[in-house]
Amino acid sequence: MDCIFCRIAEKKLPARLVYEDEFAVAFEDINPQAPVHVLVIPRKHIPTSLDLKEEDNALVGRLFQVANRIARQKGIAERGFRIVMNCNAEAGQTVFHLHIHLLGGRAMHWPPG
Ligand code: 5GP
Ligand code: ZN
Repeated sequence: MDCIFCRIAEKKLPARLVYEDEFAVAFEDINPQAPVHVLVIPRKHIPTSLDLKEEDNALVGRLFQVANRIARQKGIAERGFRIVMNCNAEAGQTVFHLHIHLLGGRAMHWPPG
């Protein structure tokens, strides 16, 4: 399977890693949309949020814990930040390996574009 995020998780493709453990990896987005733009992914290949199974419930919780940890480390926790997960084409999903976007360091707008 040719998945760029699997390759990043396996260190076969370079990325600026900010966190990794047995279940999750986080790295800087190559095309940042805010001063802080980190992607948090599971090591497990899950294409979209629609593919999550009951057995992935704890994994999803871990991804949020990792995002929170990075938000605190990067100093955006108190100011505020945004967590985004795009699902399928109309939401703008381009990489079909589940990922949380952690965005912060600037004021965010609502509704999102
Ligand atoms: P999506 O549009 O699927 O929600 O988000 C995919 C994100 O992955 C985009 O923000 C894009 O900039 C980022 N991205 C795509 N390819 C790479 C890559 O090879 N390395 C890194 N670090 N980020 C990538
Ligand atoms: Zn993958």
